[in-house]
Amino acid sequence: MRAELALCPHLAAVAPGAAPFTLAPAEILEWDGAPVVAVARCAVCGACAWLERIEGPSFSLAALRAEDAALYFRNVSRGSCDVARARAEREALAASAGPRERRVVLDAGGQRVVAASPFAPGS
Ligand SMILES: [Zn+2]
Repeated sequence: MRAELALCPHLAAVAPGAAPFTLAPAEILEWDGAPVVAVARCAVCGACAWLERIEGPSFSLAALRAEDAALYFRNVSRGSCDVARARAEREALAASAGPRERRVVLDAGGQRVVAASPFAPGS
């Protein structure tokens, strides 16, 4: 975790309403009927964020550097069939994210924020 990273002002101010970020299908790393882990992009400035499901429709948002996301997707697109390597790359990407700053509850389609609050462990 990179403690010095922070969400862009738009994502840091996430509030109920239309989601201020986009989730590209190709950037959803894990899917289980809904996104579990994804790279979100700020709809205003394009900054990246690490979106991870906590439980149910509740997610945490953490800053992610665009170059770290780009490197990850470049490596993945090379199509390694080495499962251990793919897992290591994903763990490296997760480790490159900033602290979890916001907790957001999304609707089923991931298009709307139902609730947002500062992230607190165990909340
Ligand atoms: Zn932004």
